[in-house]
Parts: sequence; structure tokens; C-alpha cells
Amino acid sequence: MTEALEKSLLEDLQCPVCDSYMCPPIRQCQKGHSICDHCFPKLKVCPKCRSPKSQARSFALEAIHSKLKIPCRYAIAGCNFVSLGEHIRNHECFCKLAPKSCPFRNYDDCHWKDITSKLKSHLMKKHSSNFYQKEKQRFLSQNFRNITNYHYIYVVIHAHKDFFRLTWDIDEITGDYEQFKCFYE
Ligand SMILES: [Zn+2]
Ligand SMILES: [Zn+2]
Ligand SMILES: [Zn+2]
Ligand SMILES: [Zn+2]
Repeated sequence: MTEALEKSLLEDLQCPVCDSYMCPPIRQCQKGHSICDHCFPKLKVCPKCRSPKSQARSFALEAIHSKLKIPCRYAIAGCNFVSLGEHIRNHECFCKLAPKSCPFRNYDDCHWKDITSKLKSHLMKKHSSNFYQKEKQRFLSQNFRNITNYHYIYVVIHAHKDFFRLTWDIDEITGDYEQFKCFYE
């Protein structure tokens, strides 16, 4: 396939709403305009012709997608990964530059979501008392707030260029720490 042809086929794969490359399942309106699977559930009618959405998928476009070299959808955040369409979804699920939710979302009811390069400054600003950045850090119970009022303790550590969330459940009666869990963010 020539580079020019590949480029023009890629343009045909751009979603009319968000401009990213549509990947399977590629959705359609009742007249046949294609829409990406991220935008499709958020729309009431087709953005091009205002006709209703359909249940049909565009299998022809999906087949073309699988044979083209597609850039990662987080290229705007700095990802240089390019791969055949059939493999790109798998990369995007684990792409380090994909927007992430705040690791404290379930604890502090924080709705922050943005690219990873901004996570550190968010944690420093909003969660400084539960955020540790030192490569070597001892976790003593004095490090934490008065634990008797809490059912669990949670911290996020930034080490080796990655983020890890650690939680300890606390036994309400004895005050003992139980079930230590570590999540890679
Ligand atoms: Zn879209
Ligand atoms: Zn349409
Ligand atoms: Zn990527
Ligand atoms: Zn947050």
C-alpha cells in the first residue's frame, strides 16, 4: 500500500465528532454515516444528517481499520506508538499517556481525570497529606492521621516513575491493620 493511499484511508476513518480514528465496533446512523464507539453512546442523532442511530456496524470500515497502521489515540498527549489496527486497542488500554482518573476517586470523591503527566501536580495540590514521593519511605502509624476515625488508610506513592496506591483496612474494634493492598495506577 502506498503512503498516500494509507493516509487517505486513515482520513476516512476519522470520527466526524471527535476526529480520532474509529476502531471496531464502528457504529452508524440509519443513513450510513459512521461514528466512533466513544461518541456513539453520547449522541441522540447523527451529527451529519440528524437521522436516528442504528444498530448496524460498518464491517467494511472495520476490516480496513484492521489492515492499516493506526497511531495511538493518545498521540496528542505525546504517545508515538503506531500499530496495525487489530492491535491498537490492546495498546490503548495500557497506554501510559491515556487520561487517568484520580487514584483517590473512591476515597475523597475526587472527579479529576486528565493525562498522566499532570497527575503528580494534582496529587501535590489536592491530596498532599496522602501523597508520598520519596523513593525510600517508612510507613509508621504516626505518618497517618488519627486512625481511630477511619475504616481504612490509603496513600499514593510516586516511585520509580510510577504511581502506586496502597490501602490498609482497619479492624474497627481492635484497630489492627488488615489486608494490605497495593494497586498499580
Ligand atoms: Zn468520536
Ligand atoms: Zn447520518
Ligand atoms: Zn499510546
Ligand atoms: Zn484527586
